[in-house]
Amino acid sequence: NHDLKVLKRDLELLVETRTLELQKAKATLEKIAFFDPLTNIPNRRFFIDQSNRLIQSCNRRNVMIAFGIIDIDDFKVLNDTYGHNVGDAVLVAFSKNLKHFFRIDDAFCRHGGEEFAFAVAIENATDLKSLADRLISGIRNIVIEMDRNTQLSITVSIGIKLCNPSSDLDLEIEIKQADIALYQSKENGKNKYTIVSDNQ
Ligand code: GH3
Ligand code: MG
Ligand code: MG
Repeated sequence: NHDLKVLKRDLELLVETRTLELQKAKATLEKIAFFDPLTNIPNRRFFIDQSNRLIQSCNRRNVMIAFGIIDIDDFKVLNDTYGHNVGDAVLVAFSKNLKHFFRIDDAFCRHGGEEFAFAVAIENATDLKSLADRLISGIRNIVIEMDRNTQLSITVSIGIKLCNPSSDLDLEIEIKQADIALYQSKENGKNKYTIVSDNQ
């Protein structure tokens, strides 16, 4: 009887340990699936889900929605000058700062390489301009400490597409238009934003 009791306890402990291990593995898998491994911010997959929810909620609330692409200026030069590791560290530092520009319901992600995307609900067009201004100047003012002797700063160019509320906005199409607006910002000398909308 005593042996049985010991066996039962051992089994219970084993089940408990295995359950914890499985929970940990599940959390790890979710993290891999939805977060960018280098910067630890949401990846494109997470962004697509969150943006599609935001499209529907903006439509219900009858508020506009803006989609943006942020691209670091001359990142290749930074990589070539300081090395890929420093480039990586800049991406990490930049991503850490990025979340301060957005609210809890906004969506943002590392869209790939040195490009980041966002989707935000917009009550009026002035709000969007002030967000874009804050991003341009806020990012320019970030001081990235590499070591005691090296401080780096970066600028970004941004393209934004402002949309009227609708339940059938196509994220891919809107992001493509934000990307075209980004290209205009680059063409016009970088370190600036361009907003396009269906109404203009
Ligand atoms: P522009 O001002 O026109 O945006 O020029 P750019 O140099 O930023 O743009 P380009 O597209 O020519 O280069 C982007 C560079 O970003 C090239 C690529 O090596 C670098 N890059 C992409 N992903 C990573 C990464 O994860 N780590 C590092 N260190 N570099 C990356
Ligand atoms: Mg790029
Ligand atoms: Mg770039």
